[in-house]
Amino acid sequence: MEKRKKLVQTLSDYGYIKTEKVMKAMISVPREEFLPASNRSYAYVDQPLPIGEGQTISAPHMVAIICEQLKLEEKMEVLEIGTGYGYNAAVVAEILGPNGHVYSIERISSLAKTAKENLERTGYADRVTVILGDGTKGYKEKAPFDRIYGTASAPSVPEPLKEQLKIGGILLIPVGTQAYFQELVCIVRESENRYKEKNKGSVAFVPMIGKHGWPEK
Ligand code: SAM
Repeated sequence: MEKRKKLVQTLSDYGYIKTEKVMKAMISVPREEFLPASNRSYAYVDQPLPIGEGQTISAPHMVAIICEQLKLEEKMEVLEIGTGYGYNAAVVAEILGPNGHVYSIERISSLAKTAKENLERTGYADRVTVILGDGTKGYKEKAPFDRIYGTASAPSVPEPLKEQLKIGGILLIPVGTQAYFQELVCIVRESENRYKEKNKGSVAFVPMIGKHGWPEK
């Protein structure tokens, strides 16, 4: 807990964490519970770590940036593309509170399975639904969403994600044509057909593979 508090304080000092609610959530969620045993001792180092299948858990500062940019509020319904081991989804769920919900899509079945176990063990299973599938298609069954975010990068913004956003909603997704070098794009749906797009800086994410993302090799 002390290491977690120290890291969160550092993220706040550097300006990644800006609000009390993101700070509280990152203090509440034990990152070590969302890592393979071999990497748990690095849980409070600010870096991405491997979780198997060539994938990573995002660095804590990136999770902080995502949560701040999304301007999350209690009771919101949020869609995440790229569950990984479930850490970011748990932090978002913590901010949304007991009456909000995160739907999180993961394309690799072993990761989806472990994420479900991690979320169950840490008490978030009733607030985060993990779905195995291609997140570039969104999740029509529960659309529209208050917020949608991707933790993998697409060559362009997948159209279904824009369509599944509520009016006034925010979509955050890394977009770029190069592997491991992209821009974090923030889109606000202003009306049925009007979207405002802003660039939030350079990021490095694994590819989003799917129908409206990168092709599978
Ligand atoms: N959210 C995670 C966390 O808490 O740290 C980070 C996940 S990792 C950076 C990105 C994940 O996106 C990988 O697990 C990868 O398998 C997944 N992914 C890539 N393309 C996808 C797609 N089309 N649909 C769903 N998941 C996808």
